[in-house]
Amino acid sequence: MYFIFLGPPGAGKGTQAKILSKEIKIPHLSTGEILRTITETNNDTGKFLKDVMAKGLLVSDDLITKVVEERILLEDCKNGFILDGFPRTIIQANNLEKILKKNNIKIKSVIQINVDDEILIKRITGRQVCKKCNKIYNKYFDPFPEDGCYECGKKDIMTRSDDEEDAFKNVRLKKYNQETMPLIEYYQKKNQLYTIDGSSSADKIAEKILKFIKSI
Ligand code: AMP
Repeated sequence: MYFIFLGPPGAGKGTQAKILSKEIKIPHLSTGEILRTITETNNDTGKFLKDVMAKGLLVSDDLITKVVEERILLEDCKNGFILDGFPRTIIQANNLEKILKKNNIKIKSVIQINVDDEILIKRITGRQVCKKCNKIYNKYFDPFPEDGCYECGKKDIMTRSDDEEDAFKNVRLKKYNQETMPLIEYYQKKNQLYTIDGSSSADKIAEKILKFIKSI
């Protein structure tokens, strides 16, 4: 089964995609995580990406499409995947259509997670990410445990420079509204969109998503 998660930064796409991935045993492909791994290699591409991402800007449609195409054609995606963070523009959505068609892949559903801006800002500026397994915590709602990550036990966390309030409000949220919001209509027209309220707890949202998936 092939899914796309859509929603503003901080809506909980990553958290929900991880839960779903474990439940239905298909890989979670977060383009943000894939790109952050590339930035750790200290070559020119890594440095360039680090700079673009720290500013909260989007990397080019061509580059991200290539990264996604390579990833979804790997063996572990043959029974499905959950795309999180891609597509983010209409051009990316059209590119994805072509890749899917060429490989005879049909998207089962595009799951849009809706959250108000004020909640998003708290979620984003409080975000803490486990350095080892990428489990997401929040210093306001669900702080990183003092004796280590619940998932992997590691004690190191990272915060993201693109999570700072200014970069978030003035760049990422604006970019989302301008470039990614049009995808809602795009997938609505294709009858693929399922919208869910993302303001309740992660467990409750996950429950609703799973119920929906079992019903389709
Ligand atoms: P995320 O973890 O999804 O918030 O992504 C972090 C950053 O990675 C974004 O702010 C962009 O700089 C970059 N990025 C991730 N996915 C994409 C995409 N589909 N198109 C362009 N840039 C992306």
